[in-house]
Amino acid sequence: SFRSSAEALSERIKVSFEFFPPKNGDMESQLWESISRLAPFQPDFVSVTYGAGGSTKQPTLNTITRICDETELAAAAHLTCVGSDKATVDAVAREFQAVGVNHFVALRGDPPEGVGAAYEPHPEGYANGAELVAGLRAIADFEISVSAYPERHPESPDFATDIDMLKRKVDAGATRAITQFFFDNDIYERYVERVRRAGIYIPIVPGILPIHNFGQVARFSKLCGASVPDWLARRFDGLEKDPETRALVAAAIAAEQVNDLVERGIDDFHFYTMNRAQLVYAICHMLGLRGDDAGSVGAAA
Ligand code: FAD
Repeated sequence: SFRSSAEALSERIKVSFEFFPPKNGDMESQLWESISRLAPFQPDFVSVTYGAGGSTKQPTLNTITRICDETELAAAAHLTCVGSDKATVDAVAREFQAVGVNHFVALRGDPPEGVGAAYEPHPEGYANGAELVAGLRAIADFEISVSAYPERHPESPDFATDIDMLKRKVDAGATRAITQFFFDNDIYERYVERVRRAGIYIPIVPGILPIHNFGQVARFSKLCGASVPDWLARRFDGLEKDPETRALVAAAIAAEQVNDLVERGIDDFHFYTMNRAQLVYAICHMLGLRGDDAGSVGAAA
């Protein structure tokens, strides 16, 4: 039977949503409103970040537990190895496994002094993302996602070093990479070409960051080595006191980026939601996604 191309597109689009663990009751309400609103899009998975050094272990575990207990969503737990010995990291992984986690986003994490400080592995710990992936693989046949950096990780002297680490993570058992956010799709496309030339064939899922606060994004981008094009800054220029227009502009920018990636053949997207639903909801809607109530909060009950 005839299907419009829009319908065919929405059937092949896959999305995942990233959240961070709430620090207080208000943030917890905001998180759960966002999860409820986005759940009907039936994401491939939702992930919850994990503070470096285990600083958010309990809040991350609580959030993951609630997702597993109260929704039909597949939960992926981020896990970092910085500052911990292997036994501690393994024990945390088993705690997540016990509440229903089969998917980890395995990360090294940043040193306690912050992004850019020299990284010192724990003497008894996993030294990098690749060693952590191997450690998780030794526990169970988890699905394991890892990070990828279209503009290089700030510690990588060149692309060869950077992509070599990705290769080591894949060889250790990673099955998907999620990228650091980027705003120029040419940068992503060139990176994926480099990765493929290095013999890496896992999906390199673009991480999309809808811009809720341009100033914050610009500051954070400097730290993590992501570039902010001049045209992007210009689009937000003068809107500092106008949140409504900012949101319209941000949705347009992200939709433009995602639609361009679709035209380049990408159909899998990871959204950094910042625990807010509205922009991500608008972008998914524009991608043609529609939700019934399957997978929404309470559906499991
Ligand atoms: P790795 O993959 O181990 O290494 C990253 C890069 O550093 C490599 O490309 C490699 O070239 C370079 N490198 C590593 N070791 C060396 C060396 N010895 N010499 C030279 N170069 C080296 N952080 C959190 O704290 N919690 C989270 O939940 C979290 N989630 C994230 C999710 C995604 C999708 C991404 C992209 C990042 C996330 N981060 C998170 C940030 C991440 O922890 C930092 O970027 C950290 O600095 C690197 O961790 P990694 O796993 O990417 O490191």
